[in-house]
This record gives sequence, C-alpha cells and structure tokens, in this order.
Amino acid sequence: MQVPLLDLKAQYASLRDEILPVIGEVCDSQYFILGPKVVEFERLVGEYCSVPAACGVSSGSDALLMCLMVEGIGAGDEVITSPYTFFATGGAIWRAGAKPVFVDIDPATYNIDPALAEQAVTSATKAIIPVHLYGQSADMDPLLAIARKHGLVVIEDAAQAIGAEYKGRRVGGLGDYGCYSFFPSKNLGGFGDGGMVVSRHADRAETLATFRNHGMAPAYYHMCVGGNFRLDALQAAILSVKLRHLDKWTANRQANAAAYAELFAASGAPESVVLPQTAKYTTSHVCNQYVVRVPAAKRQHVWDGLKEADVGCNVYYPVPLHLQECFSQIGYGEGDFPESEKAARETLALPVFPELTREQQQFVVDTLVGLLR
Ligand SMILES: *Cc1c(COP(=O)(O)O)cnc(C)c1O
Repeated sequence: MQVPLLDLKAQYASLRDEILPVIGEVCDSQYFILGPKVVEFERLVGEYCSVPAACGVSSGSDALLMCLMVEGIGAGDEVITSPYTFFATGGAIWRAGAKPVFVDIDPATYNIDPALAEQAVTSATKAIIPVHLYGQSADMDPLLAIARKHGLVVIEDAAQAIGAEYKGRRVGGLGDYGCYSFFPSKNLGGFGDGGMVVSRHADRAETLATFRNHGMAPAYYHMCVGGNFRLDALQAAILSVKLRHLDKWTANRQANAAAYAELFAASGAPESVVLPQTAKYTTSHVCNQYVVRVPAAKRQHVWDGLKEADVGCNVYYPVPLHLQECFSQIGYGEGDFPESEKAARETLALPVFPELTREQQQFVVDTLVGLLR
C-alpha cells in the first residue's frame, strides 16, 4: 500500500469540472492581476473569517512582511515570535529590518507560550506574531492582553490555520491582522503562490490595498513605499471555487485525526508515541498537519522505515529559527529554547489529508508501531 503525505491529484480530480471553466473565464478576460476575481475572493474570505477587511496578496510570506511595513516597523524595532515555525515568520521580521525576538513554545500545542512572551517585552518591542501552528490557534487572550498593556500590534500568522477557531472565533480576526497562505499544500491551496491579509479593523482595507501596489494611490502617485504584493486573478478564481469545499475538507481532516487517536490506542503503541493535543481553548483545530512525537533517538529510524514502506511523512521543522545560520548574528544559541529544540528533534508529520482512507491510516499506524518494537 502507498500512502502519500498529501494527495493533491486526488483532490484535483474531484474538482476538475468546476475549476477548468473559471480558468477559461480568466483567460478569456485577459485580466490577470487583481481585478474582479480578486475582489470577489476577498469578499468570500472576509465573510468566511468574519472580518471587514481582506486584501489578496502574492504569498503568506509577503502578507506578513506587508503588515509590518504598514505598521512602520523596521530598524531598531523588536518583534516577538516563536522559533518553532516555518522560516517565513522570522524572515518577514528580518526583511522589514526589525529584530526577531524568539520566545519558547508550549510543548502541548507547539505554539508561543504567552507567559514567556510577556517576559520578552522591552521598550523596543512593537509587535507580536503568534503562529497558529499545524492548524491550531495560539492562546490568543493572554497575548492580546499583553499587547494592550504594552501597546503592541498583533499579527497572526494563520498560514496553516484558515478556519481554525479560538473560543468559537475564527483566527485571523483576533489580532490586528491575520495572514493566510494559499501555497498548494495549505488547507486552502492555490495553483501557485498566493496569500491574504485580513483585519478586524475596517479602516485598514485601503491602506493594505495601497501597500500591496507600491504604495500607489492614485496611479503614479506614491504616498509610501509598498511593494508588488499583488494576487493573480487566476489564483483568486481557483481559490474561490476551492473555498466552497474547505469546510468539508476540514471535517475530513478532523475525522482522520480522530481516527488516528483510536487506531493508535488500539495498536498498543508505546507511551513514547505522543499524539497531537487539542488545547481547552481550541474549538476547531483544522489539522493542517498531524504531528506525533517519537523518542529523538528513534526518529530517524522511524522516518526511514515509513519512507521504506511508502508512507509519506516529513519533519517540520528540524532546525528552529534561533539556530538558523542566517540569524546567527542575533546571538542565540543551542539551549536557549529547550521546548522548541526538543520538538525539532522528536516530531514527525503523518498523512492527514482529506482523501486519506481508514485502511491507509491503519497501515500508517501499524508500520509506525512496528518500527518502535
Ligand atoms: C506556509 C507558511 C508561511 C508562508 O506562506 P507562503 O505562502 O509559502 O509564503 C508562513 N508561515 C507559516 C507558519 C507557514 O506555514
């Protein structure tokens, strides 16, 4: 049996007849950048996330950078975030010219630990970027309280978490800005790069739209320096079709996660296999990844064995950001963030994509448990 980590071809096969016509419409219109398809997609995502402002952009990475630029955050400023995330979170802070200040994670959720975030605030701190990793919200209420107390901007990195809920509210609209990615492997994936910035502040819509297009308003008059952060009409048209299916796919991911819990329990897996945990505040974990922990000393063996058995799996993220070579001049070192480093050594992502079957899951569980015997 073959079990891929993600099966985008299976998903496309079920959508082909819905998607090809809208691609045809964009081709016929020859309107490729921004325009009515992007406006329509922004309206749909705004509704989906219950936010009044939505701005389609070129990628999740650019979404993060653009929020920092809009807030005028740069040289001499500090931005607090998690070291256990995809590189783009820290990369955006660096590209804006600010200093990433890392704070360790809660080992249960892999998200930034609010108590540690408060300790990291200095007079130079301007923003906090909580990451909703693997599809589960960070603990937002204490982070928002810290932000209010110290006058900080909160930019949610919701790249992996569109539709995820914190205490009944969808992520993205909890902080000042929310950033989504439509990279093909995200829960809502395009046919190329794409992203979106949303905001619960209606008055940010215009500023965001201006920054997305070189700070230009009206044409050829530039009030500020933005960038080319524009979203393609083709991506917007495809993503508008896919958005109609997102809740069903999310429900399938969640059912797969629940099935793993049962299959692992029934398999007699050793206690050293730690399954993903859902925090009390989480009302919807959208399961972008299903990440288990195995003993660090056995992870390579398990990873190799699964690959050998044709089970797709991956390690996100083997090197936390504070240990990345490009950030070495900040001065962090091994041991600074023990929970992030431990997660980096122990975690392994298993297939959880919506089209996964129970038979495939049984095979994944049996293979993994067999490798630990
Ligand atoms: C994917 C991802 C991004 C970047 O999104 P792109 O669209 O690939 O630029 C940022 N942060 C996190 C946590 C991500 O998973």
